[in-house]
Amino acid sequence: MPPSSLRLTIDRGALAANWCALDALSRGAKTGAAVKADCYGLGVDACVPALRDAGCETFFVAHWSEVAAVARHVPAPQIAVLHGVMSEAECAYAHNSGAVPVINSLDQAALWSASGGSHCHLMIDTGINRLGIAPDEAKDQRIATLAVDILMSHLACADEDSPMNPRQLAALHNVAGLISHQRLSIANSAGIALGADYALDLTRPGLALYGGVPRSELSGLIHPVAQVEAAILQTRTLRSGDTIGYNAIFVASSPMPVGTVAMGYADGFLRIRGPGNAFSHHGRHLPILGKVSMDMVVVDLSAAPDLCAGDWLTVPWDIADAAQQNALSPYEMLTTIGQRLRQS
Ligand SMILES: *Cc1c(COP(=O)(O)O)cnc(C)c1O
Repeated sequence: MPPSSLRLTIDRGALAANWCALDALSRGAKTGAAVKADCYGLGVDACVPALRDAGCETFFVAHWSEVAAVARHVPAPQIAVLHGVMSEAECAYAHNSGAVPVINSLDQAALWSASGGSHCHLMIDTGINRLGIAPDEAKDQRIATLAVDILMSHLACADEDSPMNPRQLAALHNVAGLISHQRLSIANSAGIALGADYALDLTRPGLALYGGVPRSELSGLIHPVAQVEAAILQTRTLRSGDTIGYNAIFVASSPMPVGTVAMGYADGFLRIRGPGNAFSHHGRHLPILGKVSMDMVVVDLSAAPDLCAGDWLTVPWDIADAAQQNALSPYEMLTTIGQRLRQS
């Protein structure tokens, strides 16, 4: 294949350093990694080996379909599948692959046991009301037959100073006295910043590994991991009155140089990120003009009239930048990074 006109560069050193920083904050606890959604859009093949080599031994995915890619880099028993088992086929896949389900309900517990499974992880719902057994189900016989490794819960408001945080932590501690288990876990990235009480035996950061800063305590410790660049496909000079793109929403008020760049919403650069945003070239500011198309966006080259087809521009993808977060959360900014970019 000829070289792509898009590139996603992953700074594996920064990724490893972010994991180590979170591991240091986790004190005595072990630090895992959420690697679901193709490592939040940055690519399993680029990220998982770096996390493994930094010392990570527990990896969380959402779906069974995500297991194989991660298992190319780490032993399958180190992979936990957050959605649990929904069918006999999924139980069989779990047994064959060696990845470990996170059991989320009494029905899932019964299904897993009926398939011959006992070793698993168990999610307790302490208030986010997505997945997990209720605390008052802890004494159910279907739970008693499980051999629980990680007993976990998930915080709803870890990025805020909310009374829900200590309430959820206390609820998990209560349940921990009722269900035998190997390890206890509640903290995501933001939860790690809530302090040592939340680290328990294992932490489960995701966003912060990939450069997101969900709480101010983490700023300065967490560094950007992804850089996205796109090439100029063509340049042209607009005349006064010329328009750009679909629906002709931009009208040139005077002659100006513009460049068409190989980046669009199919690459995760959503339309909502167009207005007010700018690409850049060595610090030169190149505002986006008109609507973002599926595979292209047009930028104002007035600040860089020397640029031509084939030159690379930096795509605005600083996920810690509050201004960009007016349009999308850092989670969305990462996980919408298109497949086409990851292959380049
Ligand atoms: C995604 C996820 C995490 C990681 O959360 P971040 O906010 O990205 O750090 C941890 N635990 C569970 C159960 C998750 O689903």
